[in-house]
Amino acid sequence: MKPLDYNTGKIPVWCPGCGNFAIWNSIKKALASVDMEPHKLALVSGIGCSGKMINHVRSYGFHALHGRALPVATGIKLANPDMTVLVNGGDGDGYGMGIGHLIHAIRRNIDVTYVVHHNKVYGLTTGQAAPTSPEGTVSKSTPFGVVDSQLNPLILAMAAGATYVARGYSGESDQLAELIEGGIRHNGFALIDVLQPCVTFGGEYKYDYYNDRVVKMDEIPSHDKAIELAQDTDHYHLGVFSQYDRPAYNEQHPEITKGITAKDVTNLIQEYV
Ligand code: SF4
Repeated sequence: MKPLDYNTGKIPVWCPGCGNFAIWNSIKKALASVDMEPHKLALVSGIGCSGKMINHVRSYGFHALHGRALPVATGIKLANPDMTVLVNGGDGDGYGMGIGHLIHAIRRNIDVTYVVHHNKVYGLTTGQAAPTSPEGTVSKSTPFGVVDSQLNPLILAMAAGATYVARGYSGESDQLAELIEGGIRHNGFALIDVLQPCVTFGGEYKYDYYNDRVVKMDEIPSHDKAIELAQDTDHYHLGVFSQYDRPAYNEQHPEITKGITAKDVTNLIQEYV
């Protein structure tokens, strides 16, 4: 299939210039690269502008509650291990409400690809500070400036043991498509943090800001170098920060994914009481 074959015919209503358009195109490009058949793909999203993605990609779709996309994605993957599960969410959704689910999905190495639209703001609700907003950010929810420390999702994911950690930028959509393709091909949990300018409520974090600061990495750095690059406050390094092999959750628990009946559960319980 070609990227345009994944269109659903629905026109996105994102603001003109929003980084979500490029992420949409990169997702379709990545799907075409792996020759994904729409009936083998489940798209899951949380609440936010990014959540509308499920309307615009030919696939099964589930629009979950705020911060709850990963538990839904986990259920889909365990019940249907042959499905490819691609999750879209915002940084407020995934790194705020959903952060507990993120850490445990990483620890379990659930075989899903999580694309986080990182724009440092809650865009859908018109501009409140997100966990990724730098300290001092003045917003509708923080009129005196953010006092919480800024969350670094790459460091968090690597510390939790994520088997694929990457950063992309919606202004570099070809590279982003490759990173998403890499996440889909990867066996295990893949986090792709995507710098995505919110052109309406994103304050200074627009294309000019990122264009001056992004740097593409040539190769996957060593662990220590990856930690150093992820903490660089002068530049945003783009590419795969970390990737290694570890069995995915469904491979470690085939008894779950082969299909358990109510009778199996009763027998299991009786074994333990
Ligand atoms: Fe995009 Fe921001 Fe508009 Fe939402 S509010 S569609 S994130 S530009």
